[in-house]
Amino acid sequence: MTADAPRPVVRVSDLHKSFGEREVLRGIDLEVQAGEVVCVIGPSGSGKSTLLRCVNLLEQPTSGRIELLGAEVTDPDVDIDRVRTHVGMVFQQFNLFSHKSVLENCTMAQRTVLRRSRAEADRVALANLERVGLADRAHAMPAQLSGGQQQRVAIARALSMDPQLMLFDEPTSALDPELVGDVLGVMRDLADAGMTMLVVTHEMAFAREVGDRVVFMDDGTVVETGPADEVIGAPREERTRTFLQRVL
Ligand code: ADP
Ligand code: MG
Repeated sequence: MTADAPRPVVRVSDLHKSFGEREVLRGIDLEVQAGEVVCVIGPSGSGKSTLLRCVNLLEQPTSGRIELLGAEVTDPDVDIDRVRTHVGMVFQQFNLFSHKSVLENCTMAQRTVLRRSRAEADRVALANLERVGLADRAHAMPAQLSGGQQQRVAIARALSMDPQLMLFDEPTSALDPELVGDVLGVMRDLADAGMTMLVVTHEMAFAREVGDRVVFMDDGTVVETGPADEVIGAPREERTRTFLQRVL
């Protein structure tokens, strides 16, 4: 391979996924380059979460090919756990361990998966809690935090694994409206710092401003993809226009 043709961080080729008789992904092609922020938008039920879950094999694709961080993870010989170690994932539900402190939530995987010492894991976790504005809550329990703060802890926890890619699935859609801005602000800072991100979101202003590219999905297919400003500001496809009229 030549040095001037870097592999994309994510490359999805002709991905199909069925649940029983129902085909919910019908031939998806998608690439995310290093440092790029790609936002996936589209109506509920269009297959956005399934696509994101297929990328790191939380769902097994029915057919197609997925390359992640240079590994072809759809090859059964590839150790997906090893690849996943370098991929951070943040869901709508924060999935924090409720009986562990904020700091412990951010150190557990570092210690068990990366085998970091307690001191090193604490140092990394505190730096990332600082980054999301929550260093002063390190010893709180999750239930003592607002939803927005819990989601920022989930982001700090993911960052503490030094990910090469961050996957977000509607990270703000379970939050009270007044808490959304802080989480989007953290994501914007991450993007500005050069993190490679694949973000499913219904926050159109975020997608337009922070996304380098936007992918509009409908009914299991990519209908339109392009620069964020073009897809959201001047969509070419009728289906994209109809969707945007409903959500903007
Ligand atoms: P989106 O995230 O765009 O709302 P999803 O990827 O969650 O869409 O879902 C796409 C379709 O696949 C929906 O019709 C949903 O009901 C269906 N689906 C998702 N997960 C499963 C599953 N585990 N079993 C059966 N059907 C599923
Ligand atoms: Mg979804």
